[in-house]
Amino acid sequence: MLDDLYQDVILDHNRRPRNFGAMEPSDGHAEGHNPLCGDCVTVFVKTDGERIVDVTFTGNGCAISTASASMMTEAVTGKTVAEALALFDEVQGAVRGDAEPDDESLGEIAALCGVKDYPMRVKCATLAWHTLKAALEGATVAESD
Ligand code: ZN
Repeated sequence: MLDDLYQDVILDHNRRPRNFGAMEPSDGHAEGHNPLCGDCVTVFVKTDGERIVDVTFTGNGCAISTASASMMTEAVTGKTVAEALALFDEVQGAVRGDAEPDDESLGEIAALCGVKDYPMRVKCATLAWHTLKAALEGATVAESD
C-alpha cells in the first residue's frame, strides 16, 4: 500500500523540489500549517493581472506535502487565477476520493491520489493549495488597494 502512496514521482519531487525558495519581492505570500503532521509551507506568487507568472515555496514538511507543493508550483505557473482555483478544486476532489482523477488535467498530481486511503494525509496533499489560494487572495487585495 505504501508503494501506492510514495510513487517515484512523489519521491523525486520531495528530493528535488521545484521552485523552492523565497521570492523577493512577491505580489503575495501566505503561510500554511498542518498541525496534524507538522508540515509548514510558505507560498509566494507573482501575478500579471489575472495571470500567475511565477510561484515559489519554502517550508518543511513530509514527503507528501513537499511533493504536493513542488507539483503545485509547476501546475499553476502560467495559468489564470480562476484556472488555478478550478484546478485546486479538482485536486481536492481527487485526493479526497470524491472525484475520479483526470490524468490529463492533473498530470503528475494524479500521483497524490494515493492519499485518499489515508485521511490524515489528505491535509498534507492539499496544504500547499490552500496556501496558494491565501497567497492569491493576498495578491488580489494588494492590487485593489
Ligand atoms: Zn504531512
